[in-house]
Amino acid sequence: MSKFLHAKYSSLTPYDTSGEIESMKGYIRLNTNESPFPPSPKAIAHAHEAAQSLNYYSDPECRLLAAKIAEMNGIKPSQIVFGNGSDEILSLIFAGFCEKGAAFPDITYSFYKILAKFHGFDYITVPLKNFRVDPSYYRNANGRTLFIANPNAPTGIAMSLNEIEQVISSNPASLIVIDEAYIDYGGESSVALLGKYDNLVVVRTFSKSRSMAGARLGWCMTCDEIAQDIRNIKDTITPYNINAMTQAAGLGALEDEEYTSKNVETIRRVRDNTRVRLQEMGFDVLESSTNFLFARHETMSGEEIFSVLKKNRIMIRHFANPPAISDWNRITIGTPEQMQIFLEVMKGATENAKK
Ligand code: PMP
Repeated sequence: MSKFLHAKYSSLTPYDTSGEIESMKGYIRLNTNESPFPPSPKAIAHAHEAAQSLNYYSDPECRLLAAKIAEMNGIKPSQIVFGNGSDEILSLIFAGFCEKGAAFPDITYSFYKILAKFHGFDYITVPLKNFRVDPSYYRNANGRTLFIANPNAPTGIAMSLNEIEQVISSNPASLIVIDEAYIDYGGESSVALLGKYDNLVVVRTFSKSRSMAGARLGWCMTCDEIAQDIRNIKDTITPYNINAMTQAAGLGALEDEEYTSKNVETIRRVRDNTRVRLQEMGFDVLESSTNFLFARHETMSGEEIFSVLKKNRIMIRHFANPPAISDWNRITIGTPEQMQIFLEVMKGATENAKK
């Protein structure tokens, strides 16, 4: 730590980017919930074209993207704000809307806790019930801002729209943030509730179903007033947060929904097949509405499975913490070919473990 750093940053706990991206060349990457498919050819062509005009600043309001997303979701462009990945949107929301504290499930996207700590807000974690987010546990939020990933990560389980509505309607004094990073793989979007509630923010990303994790593009949809608040914070600290190539690529991806749907279908089919195959090998695998599976083996530990796969140049996500999930691993669904290799390695390892 340099002597120039502000004392308040002396003990930061940054997000664990254990993707080990640089050292992972030649590995099958089933550890960071990316899409194994390249972006739509339209997204790539649009980005290439936009590169010709990089001498100009990008549009701070992403107007073309906002118009398209508004049309797709039956809302107004003014209800949408874009972020450099949905992580930035989450960070803007933590910065501006957690004065009374935050609450989120004890097993969920680890970034919520990191952001709460960074912004200096008090937070509580709410237990899952059989790995599910139970709406009845969220009845007394006392004005805390609630962050719920739906479907949840790393469990993969989705809440129904009815359950989400119970959380929103029983907490009129709280802002409810529904993080829909994986919604395209299953689950019902809370966008349908935007017209009914003014304490709801729905967060989305281009990183998963639209194969653009490296482009960094996310957005949120909410009522006009909250959108303007978030926009004000964004325009104060990072007005040109979305670069022109990313904006263009995003528009290209949205113009090619057929490509996205085809890839989502493939991932869902491979996911469901992989789940059955893993169950046959003695794995307990949670149902999944996402592009990943959360699984635990009857005899092998989570760490053993992670190590065997790593030796075979396949990366999955192992959670040493919290201890309650240390025997569970999160496996991103790759291409059918990648999953075939994964399953062969798993079959060999689990048969060996039986001997
Ligand atoms: N929310 C959840 C639940 C996630 O798993 C992720 C991806 N790690 C994100 C948000 C952030 O995604 P991005 O910043 O790439 O949009």
